[in-house]
Amino acid sequence: MHNKIKVKTPLVEIDGDEMTRVIWAKIKEQLVLPYLDIQLDYYDLHVQNRDKTDDQITFDSAEAIKKFGVGTKCATITPNAARVKEYGLKKQWSSPNGSIRAALDGTVFRTPIVLKNIPPAVKNWVKPITIARHAYGDMYKNVEMRIADPGKVELVYTGADGKEIDRKLVQEFKSPGIVRGTHNLDKSIRSFARSCFEYALAEKQSLWFGTKDTISKTYHGRFRDIWADTYEKEYAARFEKAGIEYFYTLIDDIVARVMKSDGGMIWACLNYDGDVLSDMLASGFGSLGLMTSVLVSPDGKYEYEAAHGTVTKHYYKHLKGEETSTNSVASIYAWTGAIRRRGLLDGTPDVVAFADHLDAAIIDLIEGGTMTKDLVGLTSTKNPKAVSTWQFLDEVRHALEQRIFKLEKWREPTEWME
Ligand code: NAP
Ligand code: MG
Repeated sequence: MHNKIKVKTPLVEIDGDEMTRVIWAKIKEQLVLPYLDIQLDYYDLHVQNRDKTDDQITFDSAEAIKKFGVGTKCATITPNAARVKEYGLKKQWSSPNGSIRAALDGTVFRTPIVLKNIPPAVKNWVKPITIARHAYGDMYKNVEMRIADPGKVELVYTGADGKEIDRKLVQEFKSPGIVRGTHNLDKSIRSFARSCFEYALAEKQSLWFGTKDTISKTYHGRFRDIWADTYEKEYAARFEKAGIEYFYTLIDDIVARVMKSDGGMIWACLNYDGDVLSDMLASGFGSLGLMTSVLVSPDGKYEYEAAHGTVTKHYYKHLKGEETSTNSVASIYAWTGAIRRRGLLDGTPDVVAFADHLDAAIIDLIEGGTMTKDLVGLTSTKNPKAVSTWQFLDEVRHALEQRIFKLEKWREPTEWME
């Protein structure tokens, strides 16, 4: 056998629920631990363990990411009323992703895995498009009213001392209608900007950002100005050095350009735009099983995960002993993304190379025609080989072993990277 590659700093591992939990353990045992000498700082976010610890485990896992800088997370159940009953929980605990995101003040970036034999809906999208969604305020923290009878609605700003500072007429209603108030915070907008600038630098990709500041001169204008200020003061020189661009324009202009582009950029979106457009891009690129996700904090801490959930339906089939064909690719990428980032931060190229080889083994395998059922309907490969969840993971292991076998320098892993 080969030597294991030493990973310098502990990696935070966050375990989860249902089908993804079963797959997660298998990935670790079969694709990670045989190759890496790695210390895993493990947090079990199984919904029953969150319940047992009154959710403390979730906050502990977020602290661990702050401490070590990089984590990998399995999908988790966000309990609703049905889940409370199913698992006998004390209450409907908050979304773990929401809690970790809030603790890190982070932004989520979603990137599809692009494969030659899974053609995107837009034929010129040959490189992935990464979407970053601002996750605070706007419509998601709004207040709304129905106006039944004639009357006027005003926006009033009262200072902490009770004195009125500003007042504006929203509408003088003469017939029934609706009204809405939304807000955002300078500090959240700045954190969002920093996370995006940090990630663009880490990925060496240009960053696009668009709003509707021609219409929303004050509200969207504030986003534009805070971003421009943060860029000029903190990032312009580093972007220039990295040979990447920060490009700001109107959201409509960005949408038009993205459709014609070949991809390869990071697209920062306001909360609502990101909600809608990330779903459009996910389906435009193929399957949820191929959508990766990373949470990035403004000070450059990273948590990698799959964008999909715990794949409940497949889990119930699995529990009944039926064969499943669940796509494990985005979950494996949650591991390789974190391992690669760990290697980059530690300055250990052999660790980075391991992550690259594992990704490449998966791409070779699928482009060679072996895939889970979710991809069979999407592929351009004639007569693809549809495999089960476990067959796929075995084939990935085999493909990885073959790549390693071909590498003469395996015993000196630091020589992997030229
Ligand atoms: P989901 O787990 O993403 O699954 C929805 C459907 O998408 C599946 O039934 C399956 O379709 C398809 N799918 C998703 N991932 C797949 C994969 N890897 N391989 C093959 N098919 C895949 O969403 P959900 O059923 O709405 O949510 C289930 C649980 O996950 C919920 O408790 C929710 O709270 C949680 N969740 C967690 C996260 C997270 O931790 N990041 C995100 C979203 C949801 P078919 O059944 O048609 O095969
Ligand atoms: Mg959405």
